[in-house]
Amino acid sequence: MPLLTRALELVVPPFCWECGGSAPSGQPLCRACRGALRWLGDEQVDLAGVPLWAAVAYEGPARALVQGLKYHGAAGLARPMAAQVAACAPPGLIAPSAALVPVPLHPGRRRRRGYNQAERLAVALSRRKAVPVADVLCRQGAATRQVGQGREARQALIAGSVAVRPRAAPPSEAILVDDVATTGATLAACAAALRAGGSRSVRAVAYARTPGR
Ligand SMILES: [Zn+2]
Repeated sequence: MPLLTRALELVVPPFCWECGGSAPSGQPLCRACRGALRWLGDEQVDLAGVPLWAAVAYEGPARALVQGLKYHGAAGLARPMAAQVAACAPPGLIAPSAALVPVPLHPGRRRRRGYNQAERLAVALSRRKAVPVADVLCRQGAATRQVGQGREARQALIAGSVAVRPRAAPPSEAILVDDVATTGATLAACAAALRAGGSRSVRAVAYARTPGR
């Protein structure tokens, strides 16, 4: 067994994240659950003014992977998820002329989690597509819980909370990377900060998005 596969299995044990059954070596889902992923094809959607492409619908097994990556410390999931993104992205979307910009996490959250899942995805995607990572954004202010607030209040809170890091230069062609895109409020705040910092083109790639948008 290649060393890489063995190393991966230390972080991603060979069980299915959705049903707990056994999964093929190095795969986070069993064959049946992988078959249940809803692939979204080439279609890009406009999410809060940002063109977004995502590999799969945020439901069922995709939700299990996103939550594993985000809440269960399984940073190793970034690799197979990025592989799915790289394999399915429409030709030319993730071009070497662009740079991948991870959606930032609040510093406190990053400390607790130990990593930024969007950054892990961006790095894994960068290796597959030979596109550089430009980790140029940061969150400002205290992390606010978004649950239980109205949509507009939530968006206003998020809009003021993303900035370009001091002394960082946003890439001219930026591709925001996130694990999951739901309302688009965070992506819109990131895109605004990038454009204000000089990016001429901003689009977004996520592993999953809420279907029907
Ligand atoms: Zn399964």
